[in-house]
Amino acid sequence: MPLLQSYAAGRWFTAAEGPDGGTPLLDATTGEEVARISAKGLDLGEMTAYARAVGGPALRELTFHQRAMILKELGKHLTSLKDEFHALSLRTGATARDGMVDIEGGIGTVFGIASKGTRELPDDTVLVDGGLERLGREGSFLGQHVWTSRPGVAVQINAFNFPVWGMLEKLAPAFIAGVPSIVKPASQTAYLTELVVRRIIESGLLPEGTLQLLSGSAGGLLDELTVQDSVAFTGSAHTAGLLRTHTNVLHGGVTLTVEADSLNCSVLGPDVTADDPELDLFVKGVVAEMTVKAGQKCTAIRRAIVPASMADTVVDAIAARLATMRVGNPAHADTRIGPLASLEQREEVRKAIQSLRSSAEIVYGDPDRVDVLDGDDQRGAFLSPVLLRAAKGAVEPHDVEPFGPVSTVLTYDTVDEAVTLAARGKGSLVASVVTHDAAVARSIVLGLAPWHGRILVLDRDDAKESTGHGSPLPMLVHGGPGRAGGGEELGGVRGITHHMQRTAIQASPDMLTAITGRWTTGSQRRVEEVHPFRKSLTDLRIGDTISSASRRVTLADIDHFAEFTGDTFYAHTDPEAAAANQLFGGIVAHGYLVVSLAAGLFVDPDPGPVLANFGVDSLRFLTPVKVDDEIAVQLTVKQITPRSNADYGEVRWDATVTNAEGEPVATYDVLTLVAKTWPLSPA
Ligand code: NDP
Repeated sequence: MPLLQSYAAGRWFTAAEGPDGGTPLLDATTGEEVARISAKGLDLGEMTAYARAVGGPALRELTFHQRAMILKELGKHLTSLKDEFHALSLRTGATARDGMVDIEGGIGTVFGIASKGTRELPDDTVLVDGGLERLGREGSFLGQHVWTSRPGVAVQINAFNFPVWGMLEKLAPAFIAGVPSIVKPASQTAYLTELVVRRIIESGLLPEGTLQLLSGSAGGLLDELTVQDSVAFTGSAHTAGLLRTHTNVLHGGVTLTVEADSLNCSVLGPDVTADDPELDLFVKGVVAEMTVKAGQKCTAIRRAIVPASMADTVVDAIAARLATMRVGNPAHADTRIGPLASLEQREEVRKAIQSLRSSAEIVYGDPDRVDVLDGDDQRGAFLSPVLLRAAKGAVEPHDVEPFGPVSTVLTYDTVDEAVTLAARGKGSLVASVVTHDAAVARSIVLGLAPWHGRILVLDRDDAKESTGHGSPLPMLVHGGPGRAGGGEELGGVRGITHHMQRTAIQASPDMLTAITGRWTTGSQRRVEEVHPFRKSLTDLRIGDTISSASRRVTLADIDHFAEFTGDTFYAHTDPEAAAANQLFGGIVAHGYLVVSLAAGLFVDPDPGPVLANFGVDSLRFLTPVKVDDEIAVQLTVKQITPRSNADYGEVRWDATVTNAEGEPVATYDVLTLVAKTWPLSPA
């Protein structure tokens, strides 16, 4: 049988085992050997050094946008190969539906993170965080937080249940953050991860050194890590405990993120009756989480928390639905529940069910017997779905995680009790709250939120579009407090900045402009003969400014605007009422009139490289403009973001409208699209 290889320091490495060496990895359905695994002789120190010396610098040469474009290409490439991945995925016990969650789900996450990278990050290597802080009276000393890439390596230790998604959801954010990855899949299903990594390396899309693969034991890997390195771990609380107490985590400054066991719940609201569609949604949710990946999901619903009066109805409905789902060979079209990942894993789940039985009775399924479709339950790790119903005061359902197709129904009498029960999981990744009552939703969600990383509120209104309880999404946080590990992954740009360092920079405006690549209020403006609206994206520079002539705002202007737009609010039209308003003391110009007049002052009207104005950000009216006040505007190029997939880019302009006293009247950012070259080259 083939020995899985590692990809280390730019080459494929085969462990120093004899012909029969390595640990056999067995097909979950047939028990046949799929591959062997060993990392014997692998130089882990060389791998980490290579990532830091080769992969990191290569990535940090690229801007966020360039990294995002590579990820997008990677997503397309993996999509073109997905049939090959699906074929091998069957051997892990995954049905076609399970494989979609892992493979398409993983690729979708790559696209999602890439899209965040191009839309929300600058075409630069430094990311500005939040607003400016004025630290001195004159405005010559400011504070600005920025994020920069850590010059270390991101070690990613994954669980067996998602050999593709688990890798990609950790790799993509690290890649955009500019940090090279060493991927360590769980041995049990590492053959699928190895195949995907092999195809990625063959594609040549990723700069060398940005992705390495460790097939086999990770023992000793943390010894090689230092202060700029990080470990993202998904797996058991036991292993998490070992990693947490590693000396390099405790004393060496290595960052550790943990996503471990989680006893997620779904709460059925007290408002839901047997006739409401929410009952069906609740039941479908629980059954989906018991059966997808045969319940081997960190997000699966282990505890179904229902009003005591509804317990019989819920149990009957879940049992009826489970009865329609066949356990069997994942390759068979009628199979809905595949085998667990291994016979050992099945034993673990059986033991967990045994513990649960001390305070709960089985109401559906038999852990020791199952009718298998096109398979053999001696050789394959097949297990019937098992539903339990707990007695009041049961302890085990809040402590024991059966990592398989198992869930326990618990009952409550009051909303407070439901929240207390959920919290007894000691912190979870996700909860569902199924209710159509807004007040119930608010009390349960606010009670559950401190204990959860994500909450799905499900009812008839969002069910059709809902992505479901069990799907972590690239734009939303994945992780949970307490027992769930306390870590956070994904969550859009947040998942990227987890790999970066935030630093508060204190400096003058000009220095901040130079450091951040973004014009900072108070720094130099450059006024030239050529109007900036005549410059293409290539010619525009940060700081290029239009300093307009001034214009008087007359009562006729204000009357005309009121009449024309229909905005006859008293402050613009009724002298007496306006005088009585202590903020104005008389007629004032409409804020939108000021902004419109400002556009008239700064615009260059002829066709040119400025293609469109697509909005304004952060509009504030700071000083009222009274009748006959003079206003002028300064418009300065603040940020230039070329789009790599278009012949134009975005230009953000700082707009400051002032009155005759030089006081700011309005401030905002004008957002435009500007052609990369002008005149446009003929299509
Ligand atoms: P483990 O914690 O045993 O393994 C998870 C990962 O850690 C694997 O890649 C494993 O590699 C690696 N690992 C094991 N020991 C070490 C070590 N000393 N140093 C560094 N890495 C190590 O979890 P399993 O995947 O075996 O799953 C066991 C249980 O974990 C499940 O039954 C379930 O309860 C829970 N689990 C929770 C998940 C969650 O997201 N909440 C997901 C998956 C599992 P190797 O495989 O080579 O040993």
